[in-house]
Order: sequence, then structure tokens, then C-alpha cells
Amino acid sequence: MIKPDGLQGNYTDQIKAAILEAGFEIVEESTFQLDFEKASLFYAEHSGKTFFQSLIAYITSGPVLAMVLEKPNAILEWRALIGPTNASKAKVSHPRSIRAMCGMDSERNCVHGSDSPQSARREILFFFGDKMNLSGYFFSFLCFK
Ligand code: ADP
Ligand code: MG
Repeated sequence: MIKPDGLQGNYTDQIKAAILEAGFEIVEESTFQLDFEKASLFYAEHSGKTFFQSLIAYITSGPVLAMVLEKPNAILEWRALIGPTNASKAKVSHPRSIRAMCGMDSERNCVHGSDSPQSARREILFFFGDKMNLSGYFFSFLCFK
């Protein structure tokens, strides 16, 4: 997911170029404007954290671009390509990462990545569930093959 700062900073083309260059296929993409309720659901695992309100304000501050990326070992590969959560540290430790390229700090880090097959499944359903076959076959194939 490209977060509002990524879209507002006109980083979309650069991020997509990095995605394709790394060998991912973009199998779904769509822009969404999250509201407070939806954003709180998306980031429910962080609801007890000190930065939660600020995170929700940030992620609802403009549209996001959600994408489904496909590649062998996609979850780990994408997390490696985006770099660590704190973008200011990424600029030093992972200068070629996407967060180093377009992020600012520990909150405004311009992109999101699912951290497990279970969260990928949940997050793909969150954004694209109404478009996809919900019988479970598709996602069993996608996430657990
Ligand atoms: P990641 O996005 O790398 O999986 P987390 O799941 O820990 O990181 O956090 C979700 C998002 O919350 C981060 O991408 C970032 O935007 C924000 N965030 C994480 N930690 C902090 C923090 N210490 N202060 C402010 N915002 C944070
Ligand atoms: Mg996370």
C-alpha cells in the first residue's frame, strides 16, 4: 500500500518502477480514501499504542493506493524492498529501500507491507474482498501454496 505521503509526494511512478524491477507482478490495484472507522480496523493491532491516533490521522489524510503483489516469497521480498519502519533510520541503514527513498520518519514512511500470510490475506480481503472469490479457494491458493 502506498500511503498518503507517497501519493502526495508523487512517488507512485518511482515505487511502481521499483516493484516491477524487483520482479513483482501487480495483480490488483485501486485507490481508497480511508475514514476513521476503516483505518482503525486496518490498524486494529496497534489500537493500544501511543502513536495510534496520530497514525489514523496520517493514514486518513489523503488517498492510499492498495496493490496485490505477486512473486515467490512475496511477503518477505516486499518487506525487504521497503526497508525498516523508521524511514529516517532506513536512509542510513537501507539507503536503497523504498522507505529511504520517499519516507520521513517512524510514522511517515510512505508504504505499508503485510507481515505474514495471515495479515496479507486479511488485508487483501479488506481492500479487494468484494472483487474476489470469497469461497476461500482463491486465498488458500494465494497465501498457503
Ligand atoms: P510496519 O509498517 O513496518 O509493519 P508497524 O506495523 O510496527 O510497522 O507500524 C505500523 C505503522 O505505524 C508504521 O508503518 C508507521 O506508519 C506507524 N508507526 C510505527 N511505529 C511508530 C512510532 N514509534 N511512532 C509513530 N508511528 C509509528
Ligand atoms: Mg506492520
